[in-house]
Amino acid sequence: MSTVVSCSQAGRYDCRVNVGEKKLIAEIRRMAAHDRRNALSVVAGIGDDCAVLRVPPRHEALVTTDFSLEGMHFRRDWHSPESVGHRCLARGLSDIAAMGGAPIAAFLSLALPRDVSSGWVGRFMHGLLELAKRYGVTLAGGDTSESPDRILADIVVVGSVPRGRAVMRSGAKIGDRIYVSGNLGGSAAAVRTMESGKKPPVSGHERHFFPQPRVELGRLLRERHLVTAMIDTSDGLSTDLAHICDESGVGAEIFPDQVPRAQINRQVVDLELALHGGEDYELLFTSAKKVPTRIGSVALTEIGSITGGSRMWLRDGTRKKKFEVRGWEHFQARRK
Ligand SMILES: [Mg+2]
Repeated sequence: MSTVVSCSQAGRYDCRVNVGEKKLIAEIRRMAAHDRRNALSVVAGIGDDCAVLRVPPRHEALVTTDFSLEGMHFRRDWHSPESVGHRCLARGLSDIAAMGGAPIAAFLSLALPRDVSSGWVGRFMHGLLELAKRYGVTLAGGDTSESPDRILADIVVVGSVPRGRAVMRSGAKIGDRIYVSGNLGGSAAAVRTMESGKKPPVSGHERHFFPQPRVELGRLLRERHLVTAMIDTSDGLSTDLAHICDESGVGAEIFPDQVPRAQINRQVVDLELALHGGEDYELLFTSAKKVPTRIGSVALTEIGSITGGSRMWLRDGTRKKKFEVRGWEHFQARRK
């Protein structure tokens, strides 16, 4: 790939490119063409200047964009190409879930250095499209380019939600209960294992390598009026809860011993990882009601409540200490 792609229209991959890149684009298009599940919403996908999407009647469009950068969000020596593709799309789907929406289409812009083989790209696309298929999402366009040294993947996901019903971060009220789905800290535990020089078995670390965005849960919480504010836990509980508090103009109190922690090889992960580790892609939400302990196959745990003021606290019995915001540091920030 020696020619940089010169255009970036939403619906097309077929720009001025050399033969290698044309082959790549044709391959992406061929792989994406297998997914026709969302044909009702995607009027035209890859192949024209723009994709044409149909938002259902009385719905609004949701749009989210997320970078996946080599060395920052993944490493080629840690993550399989399938995992990189899966995680790339999972980030966007999780954002749609956090709004209580349904995903429709994804757009992928991919910049590749010369040392990336077509085999790597094929496996990356396979990981991405497998997840897309599971959620009925069509890959409807994107762009490709050459990158000087590292892989960059930018995903845009478009979804929809009934008009006026998108679940915002700003809806939390004093007295609301705080809940989290699943458990926390599993993804950060995998990163810690890899940083220690060990290769973790994929089976114990699915949450990190193949996170499952909580799309169905987000929709059900909205439909059942069980949620006042919501966010996905991409940056860690402390950081993501702070976003809800900031946007809602409230404070929060968390009971650390109630925070559900992931188990790796039957060992519960450190509390620190559950409180601050990112990339679990669970849903963190507030509710004015008592929420069931389970919806579908997903456990829901009450971990605290919304308070007045603007501070966040950890309450341990009668003791109370400040809940510091210590966001997720990506790999590069941790490297020496
Ligand atoms: Mg998010």
